[in-house]
Amino acid sequence: MLHFLDVTSGYGHKEVLKDVKFSIDPKDFIGIIGPNGSGKSTLLRTATKIIKPSKGEIYLERKRLDKISLKELSRSVAVVPQDTITTFPFKVMDMVLMGRIPYIENRLGLESKEDIRIAYESLKSVDAMDLEDRYVDELSGGERQRVIIAKALAQKPKILFLDEPTTHLDIAHQVEIFSLLKKLNAETGLTIVTILHDLNLASEYCDKLILLSEGRIKKQGVPSQVLDYETIEEAYKTCVIVKENPLTSRPHIFLVKK
Ligand code: ADP
Ligand code: MG
Repeated sequence: MLHFLDVTSGYGHKEVLKDVKFSIDPKDFIGIIGPNGSGKSTLLRTATKIIKPSKGEIYLERKRLDKISLKELSRSVAVVPQDTITTFPFKVMDMVLMGRIPYIENRLGLESKEDIRIAYESLKSVDAMDLEDRYVDELSGGERQRVIIAKALAQKPKILFLDEPTTHLDIAHQVEIFSLLKKLNAETGLTIVTILHDLNLASEYCDKLILLSEGRIKKQGVPSQVLDYETIEEAYKTCVIVKENPLTSRPHIFLVKK
């Protein structure tokens, strides 16, 4: 459904992603991992047309990305950015309704009954109906993230991209958000592509991983193909031990003290 064919992209003359090639199939749950500065966010910006590749081609459902208008794109792809600014006191419901903007046509920006129904459905699917009348700047980190995901779901996307959605959350809320994403993926077939730092979360929740290092794909495949100790040590320049989680058979990474 999304194909990167030898894509190079970056900022001005600076090439960040280099000859990146991968495919995402419908219903995939993909994790993008790699050290700081390896190009993960740049990959997401390239996939969502924020930056244009200098080489290579990207196809979304057999259509070349540069032939897809931003409005059309935002009906099939939604993004949960790394840091959504929520200092403005929007009501939760109004924030979720912003996800309907790509569908509002010549109606002076007024939402229809259908938009409101979809906004409620989105809040419900992230288990946040009780937050409807709250203000987003007064929510806890975990609540806020669920509302931001609800806004993205209100776009009715086929692919949901997330950039480190749990970085500021404690372990309980990390698991809560990833379990929620897993449920959406399993029950609605939503394709999920998420950048994440925590290799163990990546291993447990993602079906496939793409490991970036210095702008290139170092490895991609199921977690057990990507998360071996040599690969991790080379990419992150850190000593680790990898053992199989006895409950899930997925690789588990242990840090080694210096
Ligand atoms: P990651 O998300 O893996 O931490 P990024 O994709 O954000 O990495 O960044 C990769 C490289 O691109 C870094 O060297 C970073 O400094 C550079 N970069 C990121 N955003 C910009 C920008 N807006 N302008 C110029 N360089 C940028
Ligand atoms: Mg980033």
